[in-house]
Amino acid sequence: MRSNAVESAVLDIDWAAQTVLPIEFQGRELQLEARAYQGKDPQDQAMALINRATNGQSAATPLVRVHSGCVTGDIFHSLRCDCYKQLQSALEKIVDTPNGILIYLPSHEGRGIGLVNKIKAYALQDKGVDTVDANVQIGAPIDARDYTLAADILFDLGFPEIKLLTNNPAKIEALRAYGIKVIEQVPVVTEPCAHNRRYLETKRQRMAHKL
Ligand SMILES: [Zn+2]
Repeated sequence: MRSNAVESAVLDIDWAAQTVLPIEFQGRELQLEARAYQGKDPQDQAMALINRATNGQSAATPLVRVHSGCVTGDIFHSLRCDCYKQLQSALEKIVDTPNGILIYLPSHEGRGIGLVNKIKAYALQDKGVDTVDANVQIGAPIDARDYTLAADILFDLGFPEIKLLTNNPAKIEALRAYGIKVIEQVPVVTEPCAHNRRYLETKRQRMAHKL
């Protein structure tokens, strides 16, 4: 548990840089503030995309998505998980709100076990094992994600109090443990498909996701 926001921001972020990133989103060109951050471990990097408030709404509690990177889903739109749909749904809300922030964490690939382990777990799932038991069988944690850097980014941006776009109560608890006050959980609703129906059901039944 952190003692205060200033201390954590000073202690745990080694490096940050920022630019303006023009992105194409649903046929629109958007200009977003982009900040890259690095934790104490140089491998621990993250990007924040920020839709800044205008018209004097800069003090509004921001709507935040803390998104775990997923190469298969986010880049190739894999149907085995719901990452891409969640990312799109979150971005829709973030670009339409006075203070919207997407924190993207590449090191959270495969719930923190990495790409190779994730694909190993997929191979077991091909044989009928569910997403939780597959991790256990390959000797990997069910969820190895660390939210220190995400919390420090929010402190750095001056937002220790947020509304969080998530279906995952554990994510809220993790951020709270690092001193972030989550005043509202905003669900991210996506339509299941044939390929991810069991994955989503396992998340609901065995990982307490609100789906
Ligand atoms: Zn995914």
